[in-house]
Amino acid sequence: MPEEIDLRPVNHITTDALGQPGKRVFYLQGWQKERTITLIVEKIQVQSLAVGIEQFLAELQNKFPDLMEASADFTEERMRIHPPVDPLFRVGEIGLGYDADNDLIVVVAREGVIEGENPADTTVVRFWCTRSQVRSLARWGAEVVARGRPTCPQCGEPIDPAGHFCPKKNGHKH
Ligand SMILES: [Zn+2]
Repeated sequence: MPEEIDLRPVNHITTDALGQPGKRVFYLQGWQKERTITLIVEKIQVQSLAVGIEQFLAELQNKFPDLMEASADFTEERMRIHPPVDPLFRVGEIGLGYDADNDLIVVVAREGVIEGENPADTTVVRFWCTRSQVRSLARWGAEVVARGRPTCPQCGEPIDPAGHFCPKKNGHKH
């Protein structure tokens, strides 16, 4: 049986990256009172979630013109991942939904299917958030993604701290 976990509502939701540049691991973390759920995500998932949230909020604003504009106020200190960083699973898919009656956005994170595992047994976590919480998540997430490795001005590939073999310079290290 698939396990379903609802944090409704979350007190806070955030994303963050830990580790050396080039080897960062990205997390999605939400908590409800003393319960913390931490999931591993890919950088690209954080990126598309950030874009997806902004689009989703814009659509809601069109559909429900009376909604107050969601604020994006956040402080970096508050958005940093909090211990325990004890990931429950690696996320396969992230989706968004809206409960209009309660004005809550749901961020649905579904466990990625590991080879040999029954897809029906994957865990689903639903983080129920205010529109402002997800907008802060989106803005902060975009910032975390952008803080990665510097890119090479020659080829546009990321530069590792250890150096970079540039295809545009015939593999010379620079
Ligand atoms: Zn290069």
